[in-house]
Amino acid sequence: MKCTIKRRTYLAIYRLLDKVSPVPFDCGQLCGAICCTCGSDDEELGIYLLPGEDKVHQDSKGDNSWLTWSAENAEDFDFPDSWKGKVYFVRCKTPPVCPREKRPLQCRTFPLTPHIDAAGNLSLILNDVELPYLCPLIEDELPLSPAFVKATLTCWKHLIRDPLIYDLVRQDSKERDLVK
Ligand code: SF4
Ligand code: SF4
Repeated sequence: MKCTIKRRTYLAIYRLLDKVSPVPFDCGQLCGAICCTCGSDDEELGIYLLPGEDKVHQDSKGDNSWLTWSAENAEDFDFPDSWKGKVYFVRCKTPPVCPREKRPLQCRTFPLTPHIDAAGNLSLILNDVELPYLCPLIEDELPLSPAFVKATLTCWKHLIRDPLIYDLVRQDSKERDLVK
């Protein structure tokens, strides 16, 4: 898929998010890092990379990598109609241990997720996708670090400039609004 977000932009986004955390302590202590480890025995659970994000991880392919890769056709999943061709899913080989500076975007911005309303306004909400585990940050509505929220919003503002990523966020937002 042709994404307009360049590798260096993804790297800048990663660097910005490296400086922040959802809470000022290791939230993995609350739950045994369940969001990292719950999928380790399940071939179907993984992290999907955003369009173009694979460019950051190309050197993490192969037997010695910390990631297992699979490529699927976007058309076979519930992705936007504009998504054609390969979507990459990755799974960590030794969760919750990973090279922290290499974590995919999905790991960095959780438990927040972007929402674009009918007027086109972007905001962040707590993840509302059904998960095979309970995240204490969500369940207990723990206050998130303002720096984390600000950095995450900044990153999504950049990311949705890409039409494919915009379409994904808007599609998810429409589906969310429908079930309200
Ligand atoms: S984000 Fe939630 S599920 Fe993941 S480690 Fe932190 S508290 Fe646990
Ligand atoms: S990349 Fe790291 S943070 Fe993300 S799920 Fe894997 S082990 Fe957890």
